[in-house]
Amino acid sequence: MQPKKALVCGAGGFIGSHLVKRLKSEGFWVRGVDLKNPDFSPSAADSFVIADLRLLSSWESILDTQFDEAYQLAADMGGAGYIFSGEHDANVMHNSAMINLHMADCGVKHGVKKVFYSSSACMYPAYNQTDPNNPKCAEETAYPAEPDSEYGWEKLFSERLYFAFTRNYGLDARVARFHNIFGPEGTWTGGKEKAPAAMCRKVAEQPEGGEIEVWGDGEQTRSFLYIDECVEAVRRLMNSETFRGPVNIGSEEMVTINQLASMVMEIAGKKLGIRHIDGPLGVRGRNSDNRLIREQLGWSPSAPLMDGLKKTYTWIQTNVEKQRQPAASTASVR
Ligand code: NAD
Repeated sequence: MQPKKALVCGAGGFIGSHLVKRLKSEGFWVRGVDLKNPDFSPSAADSFVIADLRLLSSWESILDTQFDEAYQLAADMGGAGYIFSGEHDANVMHNSAMINLHMADCGVKHGVKKVFYSSSACMYPAYNQTDPNNPKCAEETAYPAEPDSEYGWEKLFSERLYFAFTRNYGLDARVARFHNIFGPEGTWTGGKEKAPAAMCRKVAEQPEGGEIEVWGDGEQTRSFLYIDECVEAVRRLMNSETFRGPVNIGSEEMVTINQLASMVMEIAGKKLGIRHIDGPLGVRGRNSDNRLIREQLGWSPSAPLMDGLKKTYTWIQTNVEKQRQPAASTASVR
């Protein structure tokens, strides 16, 4: 029997590269597409195409074979430092919308059977996320819409786009709203990294007794989901007979950023000071609400935040050490 074929857009990125591994382990033939190869290890895809998904011409060659499933993860995105500074708003909206417009339209024209779209918790209204202890992120609270970033508005537009194509053109689209996914082989430096990776890097870089910087007062709340858990939930959503979402994929283990810092310090076995500085913050409180996904897909995270943080810290610490080595050897030559 021929293996099922899956297309992964954004396969050079963090979640995409992990998803490719998972699909390969399930026996899929996988084509990955991205502007770049994965940053940290070779892609597990059978075919990896370097292409710009904003261009219609790219899609014609990518879709030259019949795909059973497509996963659209490509987006112009990054952590708070990228999304909330305002400097990248035009690119974030234009680049990601172009990719999604082509995915929906070309997906229908080329007979892609099912399409997964990765939306984000950033599409939830800012007015429901002002109380750090009681953020409201149930799926039905999305409207009236008031995302706190242009990134969130584009996600909301694209969610609606995929469901419009489902209604009018028979596309079988599935939509998940990811809440802060983290893990090894995620961006950990350079400005696009998210809070868990940034925290691991800052702690790994500091000697005992040193100090790390935290944006704001650190009392803003978030939840973080380990990558393997996310990929499992995505696969369940795609395998569902009837359920399309939109659905949250996240953790309900809410922590403040100060608590996140303490957890990482505990893993590292270091006591460090925290200096609170101005920085882009996003909403005051956010947590996943997993009632719908539990009910529809029987999914919830299988392990606590601490477990995933340990694996991520180990990976980032190794990278920090590697980065130090050339400098150390130059110093010794001198
Ligand atoms: P990522 O930035 O690591 O991956 C996105 C990939 O898209 C990158 O490799 C990038 O090169 C690629 N890309 C961007 N523009 C492209 C273009 N024009 N043509 C081809 N490829 C292009 O991000 P990620 O963390 O893996 O996130 C994947 C998806 O999940 C994104 O859509 C993101 O918005 C969404 N999401 C992620 C999180 C999270 O916590 N990681 C949370 C919410 C939503």
